[in-house]
Amino acid sequence: MKCDPNLYRAAPPSLAVKPRLIRHLFLPPLIIALMIGLGYVGFWVSEHYGIRSLSENGQRQLELHARAVESEISKYTYLPSLLELETSVPQLLADPTPEHRQTVNDYLEGLNRRSRSRAIYVMDTTGRVMATSNWRDVDSYLGEDLSFRAYFQSAVRGQPGRFYGIGSTNGEPGYYLAHGLEEHGKIIGVAVVKVRLEAMEERWQRARLEAFVSDENGIIILSSDPARRLKSVVPLSDETKEKLARSLQYYWFPLNELQPLGRETLSEGVEKLTFPANSELSSDEENISYLAQTRPLSDTPWNFTLLTPLQDLRREAINQGMLVAVAFALVAFLLIAWNERRKVIATRLAAREALQEANNQLERRITERTVDLRASNERLKGQIRERRHAEETLRRAQDELVQAGKLAAIGQMSTSIAHELNQPLAALRTLSGNTVRFLERGQLDVASTNLKTINELIDRMGRITASLRSFARRGDDKGQACLGKGVDAALQLLDGRLANATLQLHRNFDDVQVRIDQTRLEQILVNLIGNALDAMQAQPQPELWLEGEVFDGKYRLRVRDNGHGIDAEARKHLFEPFFTTKPGEQGLGLGLTLSASLAAATGGHLGVEHPASGGTTFVLSLPLVSPTSAEPI
Ligand code: ADP
Repeated sequence: MKCDPNLYRAAPPSLAVKPRLIRHLFLPPLIIALMIGLGYVGFWVSEHYGIRSLSENGQRQLELHARAVESEISKYTYLPSLLELETSVPQLLADPTPEHRQTVNDYLEGLNRRSRSRAIYVMDTTGRVMATSNWRDVDSYLGEDLSFRAYFQSAVRGQPGRFYGIGSTNGEPGYYLAHGLEEHGKIIGVAVVKVRLEAMEERWQRARLEAFVSDENGIIILSSDPARRLKSVVPLSDETKEKLARSLQYYWFPLNELQPLGRETLSEGVEKLTFPANSELSSDEENISYLAQTRPLSDTPWNFTLLTPLQDLRREAINQGMLVAVAFALVAFLLIAWNERRKVIATRLAAREALQEANNQLERRITERTVDLRASNERLKGQIRERRHAEETLRRAQDELVQAGKLAAIGQMSTSIAHELNQPLAALRTLSGNTVRFLERGQLDVASTNLKTINELIDRMGRITASLRSFARRGDDKGQACLGKGVDAALQLLDGRLANATLQLHRNFDDVQVRIDQTRLEQILVNLIGNALDAMQAQPQPELWLEGEVFDGKYRLRVRDNGHGIDAEARKHLFEPFFTTKPGEQGLGLGLTLSASLAAATGGHLGVEHPASGGTTFVLSLPLVSPTSAEPI
């Protein structure tokens, strides 16, 4: 089965290879780039939303812990002003006798114990400590001049003094709340409460909370991490540092800056701080990031900052980013696989469709051709029938003609036959009469010789009639003939005429087996030789050549005479039936026609040549039985 090649025409190689090459070259880097890009986007989105969620969560924590700090501080807000109500205090300030001092010292000691504050003391308007709760201690404030303290300076002006500082006496940090004591609208002294806020730090540490409180100078005064304490969260100018050092607010601490590696403001009061690895603030090997949420503490110039570590969030964001990248790679891989499979299926489908289409076309063509073939077969069958019929008719006609020709030839030959038979009959009559007489005379030898001659004559007559019978017999197209035998038989038949003529016969042919009925071969040869004899009647030295050769699987026998030849007009009609130039009853004009048709019926041919030297040559070609075997006679 052949298919239409157009249906399978492939794309031109240059066009088919290029896109595939481009795809193979650029697709993997593209996928990797997209993986990285999407992974980063996944990381960024996850971190962004994580920070937002942490920040919302942290806001609540911030509020909670900031309030805790505020309440811790506010607990002591009114404590200094309570001293106004204690009469011994104005008495001491008005009259600082040892008795009055002791009374107030005792009172302050009791009050301090009950309020769990660090110390409570009273100063006169010059800043000297007149009485204190820690009067028993060796590092007692009693008699100290603390006029340089900012809280004193505020309180003596009638403003509330709020101050975080490190004690100049014992270097202990604390929150100082100062209040100007009034009498009759006039400031007579200042009451101060020093509070310890370290308990809050311990609470934060226990709760694993990272937080700090920075004061009005930006100095961290309280921190869950002691390393951050007394560090500045804002850059401090040298001037400020000097001023703070002079005030001894932070004793002699160096007030270094808390230097983050990165500081990113995310929103109002929300920052992202990154501290370097292995710094004094971070023992980790990696940089550590915090979400820093800051809120001012009410009633103070302080800020509370809550630090939420971002490592877990960052780790989760990295995981999310990787997950996105891997998911993308998986999806890309699935898409590529699906696309490849789709292409394979599409190619297969296209090939199948093309094959189906080719099959359909083929079937259509086969059907069309079958119809055509059937029609032409039918036509051929009709033609074959017609031809067979015509052939049959022709064969019958041919047979009839052959038979008629034979009979005609016999008729033509009847005179000579009669002559041939009468002669021996007359001789027989004479011989038999003589023999009777010789027997009567007793001349047995002569009688015996006569009887022998009679026998020979009878044999001859038998041969003549046998030839005639075989000539007259109907033959068929199949069969084999021996050329030598055929020539001999023909010459035998024409023996009477040959005897009269002083004919010179040249035999130069092979005794081959040819494909023709023996009788028919003899009939053809009788015709050809007979015609030659007729043409040579006027020839004083008649010569007949019988020459043969093998040519192209056939045997070609030339029958040449040196007779009168054939004129140009007669040549045109030579093989037409009933064409004859012979006068009266001598010619019927059937000999050549029949001979040619007998030769043609075997696949052979009868032709004529007109040699320049004169005479006529008839060329009889007949198929050989075995084309190679040819023996010369
Ligand atoms: P017929 O012998 O009865 O005339 P043929 O068909 O045998 O019929 O021959 C037709 C004619 O061809 C003859 O009348 C004769 O004129 C011519 N012809 C045939 N053979 C020869 C020959 N060998 N030489 C000259 N003419 C010939």
